[in-house]
This record gives sequence, C-alpha cells and structure tokens, in this order.
Amino acid sequence: MSERFHTERGRRSWGRVVDAEHRIGRAQTPGSVEALFASAKAAGLSTLAFGLGRSYGDSNLNPGGSLIETRGLDRFMAFDAAAGTLRAEAGVSLDEILRVVVPAGFFLPTTPGSRFVTLGGAIANDVHGKNHHGAGTFGRYVRSLTLARSDGAVQRISPETHAELFAATVGGLGLTGIILDAEIALTAIPSALIAQRVEAIRNVDHFFELAEVRAAEHEHTVAWIDCTAQGDRLGQGVFSSGDWASPGGHEAHSGRMGPSLPFDAPAMALNPVTLRSFNALYRWRQLSKPGLSTVHYSGFFYPLDAIGHWNRLYGPRGFYQYQSVIPFDQARDATRAMLERIARSGEGSFLAVLKTFGNTPSPGLLSFPMPGVTLALDFANHGAATLALMRDLDAIVLAAGGRLYPAKDGRMSAHAFQESYPDWRKVEALRDPLISSAFWRRVTHHDG
Ligand SMILES: Cc1cc2nc3c(=O)[nH]c(=O)nc-3n(C[C@H](O)[C@H](O)[C@H](O)COP(=O)(O)OP(=O)(O)OC[C@H]3O[C@@H](n4cnc5c(N)ncnc54)[C@H](O)[C@@H]3O)c2cc1C
Repeated sequence: MSERFHTERGRRSWGRVVDAEHRIGRAQTPGSVEALFASAKAAGLSTLAFGLGRSYGDSNLNPGGSLIETRGLDRFMAFDAAAGTLRAEAGVSLDEILRVVVPAGFFLPTTPGSRFVTLGGAIANDVHGKNHHGAGTFGRYVRSLTLARSDGAVQRISPETHAELFAATVGGLGLTGIILDAEIALTAIPSALIAQRVEAIRNVDHFFELAEVRAAEHEHTVAWIDCTAQGDRLGQGVFSSGDWASPGGHEAHSGRMGPSLPFDAPAMALNPVTLRSFNALYRWRQLSKPGLSTVHYSGFFYPLDAIGHWNRLYGPRGFYQYQSVIPFDQARDATRAMLERIARSGEGSFLAVLKTFGNTPSPGLLSFPMPGVTLALDFANHGAATLALMRDLDAIVLAAGGRLYPAKDGRMSAHAFQESYPDWRKVEALRDPLISSAFWRRVTHHDG
C-alpha cells in the first residue's frame, strides 16, 4: 500500500448512519490528485472524492476503498467583478466564496441550506436552493470545470466543448472524475440583506395556494411543515419568502460560530412527545416575529449553520434524511398521503421542508430537481421501523412519478433509483472505472 493513503475509522457522512473504515488521501495540489489515483490503482482500491461530508447518506462514502479529500484544493484563481465570474479550486467552500464575493456586491447564483459545502460537492450534487423556481440549479451557472480522470487525462470541459461528459459530471455524484476547479457565474446583489415575509400555513391545501402566489412574487420561497399535525391541520406550518433588499451594506456573514452540540443527544431526547412540543414551539416562535422584516442573508439561507454539529441531535445511531420530488399534477395528493403516513408513525423531524421546483431544466443527467413539489424530512434511525416507514413513502413517491435525492439518500432500492433516473446508464458508461461509492454499488448492483 502506498504511503499516500492512511487508514481511518469512523468516516461518516452527515446522517452518521454508516460508520466505515476507509483509506484516506489528501489532495493538496491538482498534481497530487494524479499521484493519488496512481496510488489507489497500485493498491487495487477504488476511490471517490470527499468534500465537506455534507451529503447525508452514503453517496460520499466508499467503505473498503479509498477517499480523496479535496479540501486542500482551496485556492482562488480568478475573480472578474466586471463579468461577475469566479474561478476557484474545487475544495473551496461556499462559506469562503461568500466572504470574498459579498463585499464586492455578488452572491452565489443559488445556494443550498448550508454554506459548509465545497464547490466540487455543490457541482457533483447539482444543488438547489430557495430560488429554484426562478434560477434552477447550481450547475446552470458552471461555465466550465477542470476534470481529472484516473487514466491521467486532465480536461477543461464546458457544456459547449464536452456536452455529454459535462452533463454526466454536473450532478454526477463524483463518478466521472475529480473536479479540480470550476468557473461559475455570480449574481449581483443590491445588499447583503433579505426583505423577508413570514406567514402561517393552515394545511396542505393552503400551502399549495400560497406556494403558487408567492413563487410568482418572490425570488426565494420555502415552507417549514409541522409533520406531527394531523386532520384539518395536516401540513400546517410557516411559509417564508424573500427578495434581496435595497439599500443596505454588503457585509459578509460573521466568522463566529454559534453553540455546538458537543456530544450525541441521548436516544430518549427524540420521541413523539418532544417532537410535538418542539414543532408547536417552533411554529409559535416563527409566527410571533413580525410578518415583514429585513434580515441578513446568513439567517435567511443558513439557519442550521448557526448550530455546530446539529447532526448529533438524533442520537448515536444517526438519522436518515428523506427528500422527494413529486410532479405538480400528482403533488397535492401524494404530499397529503406522505404527511398522513408520517404523522401516524409518530416519527419525523424537527425540520420538515416543503418547496416548489420550477420549470427550468436541470443540466445534469442525474440532477434531482424537476418541476414539482419537494419534501425533505429527517428520521432518527430506529432500525426496521424507520426503514419500513421510508419504504411506504417510496411507494407513494414512485406511484406519483417522483424520485428521491441521492445526496440525501442512504437506503433507496436499486429498483427505485433505476426507475426514476433512467439516464443512470449514460453516467455509468462515462464513469471513471477507478471511481465508485457505497451509494452507486447499491443502486446499480455494481461491485467495482
Ligand atoms: C444543513 C444542510 C442543508 C442542505 N441543504 C441543501 C439544499 O437546500 N439543497 C441541496 O441541493 N442540498 C442541500 N444539502 C446537501 C449538500 O448541499 C450537498 O450534499 C453538497 O453536495 C455537499 O457538499 P460537500 O462538499 O460536503 O460534498 P460531500 O458530501 O463530501 O460529497 C458530495 C458528492 O460530491 C462529490 N465530490 C465532492 N468533491 C468533488 C470533486 N472535487 N470532484 C468530484 N466530485 C466531488 C463526492 O464524491 C460526493 O459524491 C444540505 C446539506 C446540509 C448538511
């Protein structure tokens, strides 16, 4: 075994269900990726890029194989304020990008709910944000990227020069090679503040009414749903919408972290009673704030980043996240059926999120977003009961023509994946033969 990799136990992704041993290599320069590929090959190990580990399930894990950590690829290469473009290495985090571009009057074209993700990870999952209904996914703003493959090829690719490989790489779960750097288009912002509107959602029907109206009016929308509510109140929650405020300063977010959960919460902490109490309290707190206010982008886009290691909240056995999208014509009935099943189970999350995706096509062959309604929930890992609940939800999602988000998944069946992502074979054909992941082996039954 080459000295370039060392064994580490306890490598987990964000949901912390899988706790696996890996050979770990750290890429510090673009050239070291080539050397790590050679080491993995010599040792007979498959490999996979690992960014900041913010994928929830097993798509960023490769137990029994190796991981190439990309955080050392953290150089900014070019920032063109006139053109509104940024080129940076793939291990730079969105947090670091915002510190550079916000004071200059720019923001990311779209952002996920955590800024502690790398540029490479954001591209490999073709992430979406609260402005999907207008902006589409992150991959739409990638002008070009540099891709290293294990045969030694290092190519600069763009939608114009390498259409197929680009479409397989954006949203491609790291399977086509290691992204060394990327150039992205930024969005000019009038200030670092968001004019926010917060209002109550009475039930599922009311969500659908509000979502349609507010998505037409506002750049950013999202809803939090109380997944313990039943009957007439099924789907009750809080709807937030927002737009960049003008005027205001361009102060980037603070570098100070809030409190951090120092250890796993005891398994007792999450039960139907605490879940109901939390949900009632959270709703009350949100709705007791003024309906209209101006807030910093950090609170609007990244509320969970304020609590370090919040993923320990679900106890030592970890948790699954379950994120689905259902086409609009089936969405109301399917969402209602899912929420009913979850409320009956007594399981469910502190934070259940509902949002509409717009019609802008996603650029990746495996991109998750499609027009429809997306629901994201956390389920503490209670073993068989939790898996049975999610299998029931799968049946609702598949029957409605929907699909699940690979970045959040840790257990969907090969059937569910292959039925809902028919283009997976095109990605498999372009997969770098040295690269594999726990997720990919599970959903394709591929042992490589
Ligand atoms: C609190 C929270 C909120 C979130 N909200 C959203 C949201 O609103 N929308 C959304 O879409 N997602 C969301 N996510 C998911 C998160 O944005 C994605 O999983 C993101 O891709 C994680 O990036 P990462 O750097 O941590 O990558 P990792 O999780 O380490 O890896 C993700 C994938 O990218 C690949 N990869 C990483 N770096 C490279 C590289 N250089 N080259 C090739 N492949 C690479 C890996 O192999 C893996 O397949 C959220 C996650 C959290 C924890």
